[in-house]
Amino acid sequence: MAMEKIDTLVVGAGQAGIAMSEHLSSNGVPHLVLEKNRIAEAWRTGRWDSLVANGPAWHDRFPNLEFTGTDPEAFAGKDRVAEYFAEYAERIKAPVRTGVEVLKAERLNGSGGFRVDTSGGVIEAQRIVAATGAFQHPVIPPVVPEGADINQLHSFHYRNPEQLPKGAVLVVGAGSSGAQIADELNRAGRKVYLSVGPHDRPPRMYRGRDFVWWLGVLGLWDQAAQEPGKEHVTISVSGAYGGRTMDFRRLAGEGVTLLGLTESYDKGTMTFAGDLQDNIASGDADYLKMLDLADAYVARTGIGLPEEPQAREAYPDPDSLTHPIRELDLEKEGITTILWATGFRQDFGWMKVNAFDAQGRPQHQRGVSSEPGIYFLGLPWQSRRGSTFIWGVWHDARHVADQIAIQRQYEGYRSPGERRADQV
Ligand SMILES: Cc1cc2nc3c(=O)[nH]c(=O)nc-3n(C[C@H](O)[C@H](O)[C@H](O)COP(=O)(O)OP(=O)(O)OC[C@H]3O[C@@H](n4cnc5c(N)ncnc54)[C@H](O)[C@@H]3O)c2cc1C
Repeated sequence: MAMEKIDTLVVGAGQAGIAMSEHLSSNGVPHLVLEKNRIAEAWRTGRWDSLVANGPAWHDRFPNLEFTGTDPEAFAGKDRVAEYFAEYAERIKAPVRTGVEVLKAERLNGSGGFRVDTSGGVIEAQRIVAATGAFQHPVIPPVVPEGADINQLHSFHYRNPEQLPKGAVLVVGAGSSGAQIADELNRAGRKVYLSVGPHDRPPRMYRGRDFVWWLGVLGLWDQAAQEPGKEHVTISVSGAYGGRTMDFRRLAGEGVTLLGLTESYDKGTMTFAGDLQDNIASGDADYLKMLDLADAYVARTGIGLPEEPQAREAYPDPDSLTHPIRELDLEKEGITTILWATGFRQDFGWMKVNAFDAQGRPQHQRGVSSEPGIYFLGLPWQSRRGSTFIWGVWHDARHVADQIAIQRQYEGYRSPGERRADQV
């Protein structure tokens, strides 16, 4: 049977794959998008039930389509976000083939392209764009042995409070996922312990503007690289309950017990680092820095936004902050579940190409890899802070598509002699 041939193969039909398809089409690049599940699968089955977008609907979208039927200031639910991408793919007539997994891609010697083995057959592609997502495989740090007598799950597998066995819950990680899940469990009447590491926590709203707007006008979404030393600093934001600033003192006031970084486990006892006060203090500093930058922007531009001095008032320090707990006997505290909100890793195991560094990380410049013909999209900080976010990936996709179009132009060049020969 003849091998199917395509110019550019896009792997993955999440927001990155759909954005890629739009820009490839605009550049006239023949392409195919392969998706092992359904369009925007991560938004359908890789999120908890109540999850809403972190940014308001006017912002967390592609430039060419608004969220219809959703208040632009509201935070779209996860299913609405999935629908949005399915709708978008249909609108741009993206050539998506769902239910096809890419198993292996390797260089085809002599053709300049790649042999791609998929669950639906073999394809020859001149180029491949890996749009398989930054948040693929849940990571649980090896702290508690698997055989330990406690229910453990990752935020990726969390759906709702009813899913967990009765009892208290230790949530490890206070980025957007951990903080939101801790809040939800606490509201559902569970006793919640929250292990808080280094984090940033911008104000949800300040002087009448959402933080996504502030990040935009202050140029922070476009920041090209993480500040040195901030590589392990997560961002804690939430659109839940209409959108509120993530404030750990408030959560503690509502019943959550705060803890420092989770360190170790021994015979039912969990230990925590003595860094809670530092972590809360650096989160506060980040919050206040944003208010200062916003105030300076207002002063500089003269834009008439109302003052909001109360944004600088802090909730009282809870007991768990003034007297940090360093050890917890899980059974004594009635903790029956440890919920790890500890992040994800990527998986490029299917790519047998020379596009990775010694640690297996993509080697690339704004998505153009070190292996000719291999491209990445949707990587954290691919070109800027916004690269993994809905609005940001669209702009990165445009750059990658432009680079592909430029290569195709060179490849399509014919010398006058070749052109004459072509005409014969
Ligand atoms: C909990 C959570 C909440 C988030 N909330 C927001 C938010 O509110 N706003 C925002 O802007 N961003 C948010 N993000 C970040 C980002 O927008 C999402 O992670 C988004 O899903 C990333 O899109 P993507 O297309 O890069 O990857 P994915 O959505 O993960 O899509 C990759 C696709 O590739 C497919 N795939 C993988 N391997 C293969 C293979 N070998 N063959 C074929 N197909 C394959 C997968 O099935 C998947 O559908 C959130 C992330 C998380 C984890």
